[in-house]
Order: sequence, then C-alpha cells, then structure tokens
Amino acid sequence: MTKVAIVTGGTRGIGEAISLALKKMGYVVAANYAGNDEKARAFSERTGIDSFRWDVGDHQACLDGCAAVADRLGSVDIVVNNAGITRDGVLAKMSFDDWNEVMRINLGGCFNMAKATFDGMRQRGWGRFVNIGSVNGQAGQYGQVNYAAAKSGIHGFTKALAQEGAKYGITVNAIAPGYVDTDMVAAVPAQVLEKIVAKIPVGRLGHAGEIARGVAFLCSEEAGFVTGSTMSINGGQHMY
Ligand code: NAD
Repeated sequence: MTKVAIVTGGTRGIGEAISLALKKMGYVVAANYAGNDEKARAFSERTGIDSFRWDVGDHQACLDGCAAVADRLGSVDIVVNNAGITRDGVLAKMSFDDWNEVMRINLGGCFNMAKATFDGMRQRGWGRFVNIGSVNGQAGQYGQVNYAAAKSGIHGFTKALAQEGAKYGITVNAIAPGYVDTDMVAAVPAQVLEKIVAKIPVGRLGHAGEIARGVAFLCSEEAGFVTGSTMSINGGQHMY
C-alpha cells in the first residue's frame, strides 16, 4: 500500500523541497504549515500536495492534525519534523518568550508529532522519522542559545527514540543542515552571511534540494538499517 508522509513546515523552503522529493518517490504527502492559508493553497495547487494547518508546538493540535491527515490520506507511516523558527539574540537580550517559543516549536514539535504517530507505526511494524536538526545544534552559534539548545535536543531525541523504535521496524534519524539558501537564512545580515560562507569549505550556501535528497534516502525502504544517525549536510563547515 502507498505510504503516507507528513512534512511539518512542508510548504516552503527546505520543507517544500522535502515534500516534493517524497512525492517523487511515490509517497502520498501531507504538507503541514503554520499560518499562511493563501500561500499554502498556492503550494497545493502548484504541487498537487495536500496542505494541513496546525501549530506543531501545540500538543492537541498535532494529535488532531495527524488524525485529519489519516482520515483524508490514510495511516501515517513517515514523519519529517522540519518546522522550525529562530528568535536570535545574545543571552543578555533574549527574552524568556524567545527561549520558550523556539523550544516549544523546534523541539516540542518533534515530541508532539511522535506522540501522534509513533503508536500507529509500531502497530503496523514500519515507520520513518527524520528530524531536521542543525549544524548550530552540533557546534553552537553566537546569539542562538535557544536555537542551538533546541536543535541539540533534537539530536538526543533522535537517538533515544531510535532505540525505542528499532524492534518495531521504525527508524529515527536526523539531518543536520549547514547554511541553506532559504527565507530563514535570508534574514541573516549580509555581512554576517559573508563571514559564514567564508568558513564553508565548499564555498557556497546549500540548496534545499540537497537536504531533501538526504531525507528521501532516510525515508526509503533501503534505509532500514540506518537508525539513530545524524547526517551532516553542510558543505564541510563542521565535521562531526
Ligand atoms: P523557513 O523559515 O523557510 O521554513 C520553516 C517552516 O516551518 C515554514 O514553512 C513555517 O511555516 C514552518 N513553521 C514554523 N513554525 C511552525 C509551527 N509552529 N507549526 C508548523 N509549522 C511551522 O526555514 P527553512 O530554512 O526552510 O528551515 C527548515 C528547517 O531546517 C528548520 O527546522 C530549520 O531550523 C532547519 N535548518 C535550516 C537551515 C538553513 O540554513 N536554512 C540550516 C539548518 C537547519
């Protein structure tokens, strides 16, 4: 039977590339999004991929959203936890709200989505989770104690859940992208970005499609022996 995949934050940036890559593999894809109905509708018309609105940081909304996907498309076999935000600032200037929102969405979203879908995968004996971490969760980054902590947490979450899923045919892996040319990176000031690119051995930003290809591999049948791993796709910026 055709497998069903949910990609959180799946209608733009890296998430859009992942949604398209999974569709190309023959999976039925549900792209979750946070707020912009008009853009999500345009995405669905352009790609033929259904979009579903909910906040991944809201536990009940994840349970309801995943149930709505299962009702419309079938049981959920694959979850790509891609949704993420930044609220950068040095510690002295970072509010509790900046800390909390990043933890709630970036890390809490992974927990909420797993709670909504893991049990069904366990019963059916097959599943794939791919959690999008970050090079900044591996190496740390000035002005990002919230983001680095949440992304580092994703890497720990991945290794722990992988141990729980292994005997049920569920793999859980992470991808740690380096700097990729999306809206998120467009928000970084040009002079800061220039310094970042100067430290990337490959000499450029990554493209969303390059992250999506890694996700597609980890979601494939052939990747059944890969679990608890973190794939770094960062142009050589950080060799972990
Ligand atoms: P983006 O800002 O273009 O997209 C983020 C997506 O997450 C959007 O679709 C947004 O609607 C969604 N989202 C945000 N909050 C949400 C919520 N509460 N509920 C549901 N969806 C929500 O960013 P991107 O660059 O495409 O990043 C995608 C992922 O990759 C993020 O987790 C990000 O942290 C990670 N990442 C990005 C880079 C990069 O250089 N762009 C590097 C490392 C990691």
